[in-house]
Amino acid sequence: NTFAEIDLGEALNENIRRCKYVRPTPVQRNAIPISLAGRDLMACAQTGSGKTAAFCFPIISGIMRGQPMQRPPRGVRTVYPLALVLSPTRELSMQIHEEARKFSYQTGVRVVVAYGGAPINQQLRDLERGVDILVATPGRLVDLLERARVSLQMIRYLALDEADRMLDMGFEPQIRKIVEQMDMPPPGDRQTMLFSATFPREIQRLAADFLSNYIFLAV
Ligand code: AMP
Repeated sequence: NTFAEIDLGEALNENIRRCKYVRPTPVQRNAIPISLAGRDLMACAQTGSGKTAAFCFPIISGIMRGQPMQRPPRGVRTVYPLALVLSPTRELSMQIHEEARKFSYQTGVRVVVAYGGAPINQQLRDLERGVDILVATPGRLVDLLERARVSLQMIRYLALDEADRMLDMGFEPQIRKIVEQMDMPPPGDRQTMLFSATFPREIQRLAADFLSNYIFLAV
């Protein structure tokens, strides 16, 4: 019942110690093993429940075990992140980015954030240096996809954070457009985690459309 007992990879376990996380919160205790086992997950979790770590740890651990980040060759401007975290607001994206960076310290896993309401140029420069985990708001990501600066064809992990808030803000068309791009070839092989504080019918429908054979978790 401590993080030390969960094998997330040496560097990540070390970062968790550095963050002074000792015991997983309920959502972490349940969600992390499900994700490490490769299952899709729909989790009912509130702000403050520790959900950021619940989706970051399996993603970082999985990327560490898989292929390392390839910095794109000079002149190639499209990047291929392995994981995407979608969040409703600039503030939440910045928070997730900050936490994910602490967790991925010295793991070789690179995290980049892109949100709307800010100039795109610095974000483009950050992306050009390579990205494993992209944290983004839906509108800005659609912009990056239309500019062909990001491709989602290598995405292996998708986390939708505060999905109910994203729908309340009217992001459903953007989210559907984004996920459609992941379903282009090569198929399958994507692990999806959907987090939401509430479960109205629209969220159930997103889960039915985006998740496969998922486990429902309410903590
Ligand atoms: P979140 O719900 O992900 O926004 O996390 C809420 C706060 O709890 C953040 O400040 C985290 O850094 C902290 N936190 C998350 N998980 C743990 C844990 N297992 N032990 C101690 N603090 C944690």
